[in-house]
Amino acid sequence: MPEFDFDLFTIGAGSGGVAASRRAGEYGAKVAICEGSRVGGTCVMRGCVPKKLLVYAASFAEHFADAAGFGWSVPEPKLDWPKLMAAKEAELDRLEQIYRRLLRDSKVELIEGRGKLIDAHTVEVGDKRYTAKYILIATGGWPELPDIPGIDLAITSNEALELPELPKRVTIVGGGYIGVEFAGIFNAAGAKVTMLLRGDNVLRGFDDEIRERLAEEMNARGVEILTEVRVRSIDERSDGSLSLLLDHDEFHETDALLYATGRKPASAGLGLEMVGIETRRDAAIVVDERNRTAVPNIYAIGDVTHRINLTPVAIAEGRALAETLFNRKPLITERDNIPTAVFSRPPVATVGLTEQEARERHESVEVYCTRFRPMKATLSGRAERITCKLVVDKPSGVVLGAHMVGEDAPEIIQGLAIALKCGATKRDFDRTMGIHPSAAEEFVTMRFPVPDTD
Ligand code: NDP
Repeated sequence: MPEFDFDLFTIGAGSGGVAASRRAGEYGAKVAICEGSRVGGTCVMRGCVPKKLLVYAASFAEHFADAAGFGWSVPEPKLDWPKLMAAKEAELDRLEQIYRRLLRDSKVELIEGRGKLIDAHTVEVGDKRYTAKYILIATGGWPELPDIPGIDLAITSNEALELPELPKRVTIVGGGYIGVEFAGIFNAAGAKVTMLLRGDNVLRGFDDEIRERLAEEMNARGVEILTEVRVRSIDERSDGSLSLLLDHDEFHETDALLYATGRKPASAGLGLEMVGIETRRDAAIVVDERNRTAVPNIYAIGDVTHRINLTPVAIAEGRALAETLFNRKPLITERDNIPTAVFSRPPVATVGLTEQEARERHESVEVYCTRFRPMKATLSGRAERITCKLVVDKPSGVVLGAHMVGEDAPEIIQGLAIALKCGATKRDFDRTMGIHPSAAEEFVTMRFPVPDTD
């Protein structure tokens, strides 16, 4: 008789949990995974995937408008929002089935229901208990809302992805990834969008220049960005609209209020305290660089550990764990030069250090930056600018950061991330031929640093 029911029991079938479980199953481990909601987790069901589908839908607004300059006559476009929602839902159903099949193919047993730790080797799901040699917690995160009167009237990204009708006015609190992405979607779909930021600009933590350029481009598309504003309370009016009381006793009216004020690790209700797993004040499970919790056979990966909350990072952590436990190949996930993109309108993408970070960490830094009108905008007449920026360590020439705001930025920066990972220098960029005509070639043709940057 084996000592345990399973070699690995994973709690949470999101990107990280599924990746770890499948890789472990492929190495012959006996694996179970439990999920209390839809298989696929945040990224596939409530995040990246449905969001990107809506971003694609939104991008047509600009394509239709731009087409006239290229000779097309386009009848007045009209977005059928319920039809878009239905198409998106059908795609999510298809993806969920694929995820279920992938688990089956990797011989991972799917157990439907929420898991709870009973002891270091036992998980309870519903009225059943399962034992496992190793346990992996991959429960992700959940939107976090501030505690203010009327907050129940606000929606989060979960509901924003499923709105049955497009509101006429949408107000978004928070200017992080989710805030700017939904601002782009609702604006392009035809809603009047207002962002209320407590800080001085969108995307804190990104390169300051990129933040400014994005805010300008969003403004130019009609998104109103109000800075240094706080919401004190929210009330519903008799016509169903919402009235927000802001600081300085000002009022703001809207039809839908989206709070995008961050996400919290989903660590509650897992029985962590029963087995002695430590959490931080922000509810993140504390793990070491090998994703091990305070209990040696229990691991945690992805958003529940609140380190770098990105899908590819959770997947890499999951696979590294499976390699370590079941393939005798101890792996530590590399955390330098992780590229990231924000699917705002226009999108932002970045890898490496911002100019501000580089100046703090390096003695002498050069900045190369170009801002140009994309070729497409000449005939379309759109007053659009693309910004490309390189941050370079002056003595060694090593490129420390690459940043872009403009169409195709995520596609372009993904390639540059390889260059940065390989330690490319500005000279390597200079001796690379450009692809002409493209926006990407700007990254290999920037000749002079921005004056007075050192
Ligand atoms: P972020 O942490 O990115 O941004 C939160 C925003 O809300 C910030 O602008 C912050 O302001 C503001 N904020 C926080 N608390 C309050 C408050 N009490 N009142 C008013 N404003 C507040 O969170 P998101 O919710 O946008 O996204 C969560 C995470 O999900 C991201 O960090 C990212 O890791 C992941 N994600 C990744 C995506 C991608 O890769 N494309 C897409 C979507 C999400 P301030 O700047 O002042 O702190």
